[in-house]
Amino acid sequence: MTIHPNTRPAISKDLLSAIHAVPGGREITDPATGALVGLAPEHTTADLETAITAARAAQPGWAARSHAERSELLNLAADAVEANAEALAVLLSREQGKPLNGPNARLEVGACAAWLRTTAGIDLEPEVLVDDESGTAELHYRPMGVVGAIGPWNWPMMISVWQLAPALRMGNTVVLKPSEYTPLSVLALVHVINSVLPQDLLHVVSGGRDVGEAISKHPGINKIMFTGSTATGKAIIRSSADTVKRLTMELGGNDAGIVLPDADPEKIAENLFWGAFINTGQTCAALKRLYVHENIYEEVCQALIKVAKAMPMGNGLDEKNVLGPLQNKAQFDIVASLVQAAKDSGARVLLGGNPVANQPGHFYPTTLVADIGNDNALVTEEQFGPALPIIKYSTLDEAIAMANGLDVGLGASVWSSDIDAARNVAARIQAGTVWINKHGAVDPRVPFGGAKMSGYGLEFGVEGLKHLGQPQAISY
Ligand code: NAD
Repeated sequence: MTIHPNTRPAISKDLLSAIHAVPGGREITDPATGALVGLAPEHTTADLETAITAARAAQPGWAARSHAERSELLNLAADAVEANAEALAVLLSREQGKPLNGPNARLEVGACAAWLRTTAGIDLEPEVLVDDESGTAELHYRPMGVVGAIGPWNWPMMISVWQLAPALRMGNTVVLKPSEYTPLSVLALVHVINSVLPQDLLHVVSGGRDVGEAISKHPGINKIMFTGSTATGKAIIRSSADTVKRLTMELGGNDAGIVLPDADPEKIAENLFWGAFINTGQTCAALKRLYVHENIYEEVCQALIKVAKAMPMGNGLDEKNVLGPLQNKAQFDIVASLVQAAKDSGARVLLGGNPVANQPGHFYPTTLVADIGNDNALVTEEQFGPALPIIKYSTLDEAIAMANGLDVGLGASVWSSDIDAARNVAARIQAGTVWINKHGAVDPRVPFGGAKMSGYGLEFGVEGLKHLGQPQAISY
């Protein structure tokens, strides 16, 4: 079946020129060096109106296509991302700061293709709910209309795909607003995807908070997919109330990990490290508080120091690095002040904790902090950076109470040699996902979403598709 003539080859080695970085636009600088990366267009609420009008006009035609046609186009989009993967990864590394290697830029671009393909391959069939002498009832999921997608700066391309792929798959059109810190990455990604999609299905409006706020109030937007901080999520919930929008809220987290006394410190150390330090700690579902049983506390600390010391941090374009800078100065300052609070309390800094003054990039060294109180700000607040507090516990009840003690609950993890014991602990943890002997490993087939103030709604898998459809029961 040929549904679109544009199976175009790779677009350009230099995606920056392809996305028409505009003269007079906002300067985007490399967080590793301070050098200019490009000039991002400052779209306004007037540009937003134009995008919403075009997206609304295109939506009925897109909704009228079959699931098979929409899936085929998403697969073509995955092909286009793969054909441009290296250029996308380089731009992402320069703008976001994350290294090409390690669980970073190349992995993120690969995930974009993987999520597009998996989302294309999932079937959401109508369910027959009743079929007996009383009659028949079916449950269908219809397109919702125009989806407004608002994203953060930590995984800008991947999270955009998490939002746009299921939205398009279900027959909606999309207006995407990237973070003002990382617009070029998303503009480039959309440019690549739009090279194979029919016109006007997918728009990107590169503006600030005012554009995000306008999306959340706009009567022409039917559903919002939001990923960002809990504070912004609450603002969107409030400003979308008058238009009763459907919302998927993926908000902040402060994920706990609990290491049981039977865990093998050497064996778990590398997974623990990457659970916490993936994307240099700037990950919603990263391990942000580690609770370790007193019997193996020192061994786990020592094993983590060994792994951490072997992970080079530096400019993301240097192939040897696997850790990078913080994306922006504001985030650097948050991490620095939280580590300072830990030091001031008398906590023991095992590694790092002393950033080099007056450097050009926002590098904060890999930091491990032991013997820290559970009420310290480095534990209770989301650090979103490369600084992990390690808290000692004596009883499992105490550890679970501490893990559940905050008002967020995105992910959590349990570390043990006994899977059944770990599963029993998982059942007592208040979080949308609990991983065992790993942390933060997302999968496009497995629903992902938060508990408590980490948000509501689910992404990925068939449940994710349902959240981009208007349920409709038909009875006869
Ligand atoms: P942020 O909330 O500051 O910004 C996110 C987006 O919201 C940006 O595009 C911003 O312009 C926009 N925005 C700001 N004010 C707005 C308003 N009033 N109305 C509408 N839009 C508005 O978040 P951030 O600093 O970019 O990202 C970091 C946060 O995101 C962390 O808390 C992290 O845990 C969270 N996060 C969550 C997930 C998840 O899946 N749960 C994933 C990634 C990041």
